[in-house]
Amino acid sequence: MTRAMLEAQDLLVQRDGNTILDIDELQVFSGEVMAVIGPNGAGKSTLLLTLSRLLEPDRGQIIFKGGSIETIKPLVYRRQIALVLQAPLLLDKSVYENVAEGLRYRRVQKREVQQRVEEWLEKVEIQHLAQRRASRLSGGEAQRVSLARAFAIQPQVLMLDEPFSALDAPTRARLLEDFHGLLQDTGVTTLFITHDLDEALFLGDRVAVMLDGRLRQVGPPQDVFSAPADPDVAAFVGVETVIAGQVIASRAGQITIQADGFLVEAVGDVALGRRVFACLRPEDVTLLPCSDAHADSSPRSSARNCLRGRILRMVPQGPLVKVVIDCGFKVTALITRLSAQEMRLEAGSAIDIAFKASAVHLISR
Ligand code: ADP
Ligand code: MG
Repeated sequence: MTRAMLEAQDLLVQRDGNTILDIDELQVFSGEVMAVIGPNGAGKSTLLLTLSRLLEPDRGQIIFKGGSIETIKPLVYRRQIALVLQAPLLLDKSVYENVAEGLRYRRVQKREVQQRVEEWLEKVEIQHLAQRRASRLSGGEAQRVSLARAFAIQPQVLMLDEPFSALDAPTRARLLEDFHGLLQDTGVTTLFITHDLDEALFLGDRVAVMLDGRLRQVGPPQDVFSAPADPDVAAFVGVETVIAGQVIASRAGQITIQADGFLVEAVGDVALGRRVFACLRPEDVTLLPCSDAHADSSPRSSARNCLRGRILRMVPQGPLVKVVIDCGFKVTALITRLSAQEMRLEAGSAIDIAFKASAVHLISR
């Protein structure tokens, strides 16, 4: 059984008479990356502040390594936690000093301080900036300093609150990729907060969806994105079809993904062998009356994906109907009620579906 490093039970935080955090239960297992995702104002930062013990909840229990944190002195607890925030809180000192400070505060021996600072500056690729003053760094560089400082203390739990959301897109992409590698290398227990779906899918071993101060769904990314627990989660995650697979061909922007028993053609720039999620929005799925002409789902080189499936259910949504189809995986399509009538669609009938390669949204996992 995997052990919970950190657990919250029955947490309640109220502000100005409003409940901003109300969590029955959350467990962060030893060595996992838990991505908490939710829109602005969902209570994500409040959760992080509470778990890092910077905010006292109105009610509830926090359990660290099996014991209540009430039994641990706040400072002793905080020394075991590393925080990385959206705006790096750096001292007006050199990069080196910023990383060293956290270690000295934790009473690490002088020689080891030097060793760990150098190691981590190198790992986050800012060793050349060691003597630069923190105030003279770019946003991306400053966030690398925060990461080095956090990793260097070898925390029991690494907690990050939207660490990349203030960065420009290319800087963010590079840092995200590097950070992912560091998480894999260190295996540190991590609580990662974000409002970005791609980040949560990419980094999280599990994802917790937070809306209105409550956790609506906690599970592996694929479950959360392919089987949202409720309509609000579904609306928040937007994509209704998520197919897990691996890139088996990648040439000139044309990608072929091997999924469980079938191939999906997509467009993008993803390396061969990469494990990905192929995401589809319901409005991008076309329904075709069944014709025996292309009854098979064998490999195709065209940019169009065609598969045969069976209608599981039809859910009216205003002037549209949501059609849920089983193609070996679940696909959701949206069509007008009129088309549904004309095509005589009903639960149980066979149907062909098609979607363009360009409609497939790829997310590395
Ligand atoms: P998130 O990080 O998901 O954007 P927050 O945890 O920052 O959300 O905030 C959750 C809700 O609590 C928001 O509606 C916010 O306005 C409110 N809130 C946060 N901090 C305070 C505070 N100190 N006093 C009153 N309301 C607060
Ligand atoms: Mg926040």
